[in-house]
This record gives sequence, C-alpha cells and structure tokens, in this order.
Amino acid sequence: MLSFTDPNQMQQQALAWRQTSETIAFVPTMGALHRGHAALLQAGRSRGTKLVLSIFVNPAQFGPNEDLSNYPRSLEADLELAQQCEVDAVFLPTQEAIYPANFRSYVEVEQLTRGLCGGARPEHFRGVTTIILKLLQIVQPHCTLFGEKDYQQLQVIRRMVTDFMIPVEIIGVPTVREADGLALSSRNQHLSAAERQTARAIPEALFAAQEMKAQGPDEMITAVRATLIAAGLRDIDYITIVNPNTLVPVTRLDQPARLCVAVRIGETRLIDNVGL
Ligand code: AMP
Repeated sequence: MLSFTDPNQMQQQALAWRQTSETIAFVPTMGALHRGHAALLQAGRSRGTKLVLSIFVNPAQFGPNEDLSNYPRSLEADLELAQQCEVDAVFLPTQEAIYPANFRSYVEVEQLTRGLCGGARPEHFRGVTTIILKLLQIVQPHCTLFGEKDYQQLQVIRRMVTDFMIPVEIIGVPTVREADGLALSSRNQHLSAAERQTARAIPEALFAAQEMKAQGPDEMITAVRATLIAAGLRDIDYITIVNPNTLVPVTRLDQPARLCVAVRIGETRLIDNVGL
C-alpha cells in the first residue's frame, strides 16, 4: 500500500495512473474507521482498478465549539483496515499542506446547506464542500463513495459536482448499522454504556416510522418525537421529513421522502435518516 502525505505527490501518482488507463475509486474519511467506512472501501474496490483512501480531520468543517480536538483518532488500526480492504494508496495530509497560511478559497452550496444540520452547524457544509473539492483535485478519481448516513452531505456534494461539472461519479452507499440498528459512527465511541443503550431508540423510532400509516408528515414527526422522548432523548436538534433531492420539507407523504433526525446524547451529537 502506497502512502502519501504531500498533496503534490498524491496528485502526481493519480495523474500517472490516469495516463496508464487505470480507473481511480476514492473514499474520503476523517479516520477512526469502522465497518461503515469498510463498506465504502469494498464498494470502491469493485469499481476502480486503483482504490484511494484519504484520512484527514478537516478543521474547516468543525464549528468553534465543536469536537475537533477530541475527534477520535486511530491511525494504526485505520491502516490495518485499509490493508484488509486492499487499498492501493492512503493519503494522509497535514493541516498545513491542505490549508497553507495563504489559503483563501471556499466553496458554498446554497439552500441545500441551510436546513437540517446546516441550522445548528452554519459553517459545516462550507468546510465539507471545500475539502471535498480540494481532495477531488488531488486524487483525480473517476468515482467517489459517500455514505447515506450523512444524507445531506451526500446531496450537497452531488449538487456541487453537478454545478461545477466535475467529471466524477458520486456513489451513495447504504448506512451500515450495529445489530440493534444504531448507525455506525466514529462518534459512537464517545457514548457511555448507558448513553449507548439509550441511543438505540433513534433507529427504533426511524424504523417504526417507515412502517407507520401516518396521515401526513406532522403526525409522523410527532410519533418519532414521542418515541425519542419516551426513551429519555430530550435534546432533539431536528426531526424533519424532506424531499430526497431538494431537501425541502415535504407537506405530504405521497412521494418518496427522507426522514432525518439529529439528537444530542450528553456531549455527543448523533444523526440518522431513512427513506420513506
Ligand atoms: P467520516 O469519517 O465520518 O467523515 O465519514 C466518511 C465517510 O463514511 C462519509 O461518506 C460517511 O457518510 C461514511 N460513513 C460514516 N458512517 C457510515 C455508516 N454507518 N454507514 C455507511 N457510511 C458511513
């Protein structure tokens, strides 16, 4: 497995691969890898002749009071998982290499970034789109894989790639879950044993909603809220049902829609979503 820290060297390797007609599949991550990331790598492995993984905890997508400094890091285990997933190259840039002192450019996707997580995290998606555009320039992939777990992020990146005509295919990968339904997340390791028990109410509420014969979105949202509160999850950031493409809240349930939630458990903020 090749390893690069210098963005120029990574880009030179990617361009060399392209010259010899290799196809590059790319999985960008912030590390602390788990089975969710592995699912993206496996999907990428079957789509590219070269598979690139990046690990970079991107400061630009964390707010001033967010968990940048204690974001989980586990490089040794991450590299082992990368080997197991037959990654060809891992890209591990430093903050200084990505954001040198004279860095001045940011990308902003309008509207799609305002609702859902954009409410509580106003600068977050600007940081996400900026790093992803930069990584796409460095890694030059033919396809890039993202998890549906971060559904808004996936739609925002699809929009950016379409708007700027970036020649890359964006592939969404279904959410990988624990046995009790909780979506795998690097942040789950911050949960205490009691919080982890409580967290299972999130997928329970979402799966129950999928089976529900609700009259409309308000009724469904009320039911989801009741399930979460009954489990002791009172710090609910949002429960919203949106159009899966525009992310605009729906007023009826007669078309495909996406039910999205964000909940705080102690210091940890968890998000999840399901299709309706
Ligand atoms: P992160 O390291 O949290 O920035 O995530 C990197 C990529 O992995 C993103 O595309 C996430 O959506 C995806 N991802 C994270 N958790 C899961 C999961 N449980 N199932 C599928 N994909 C995931």
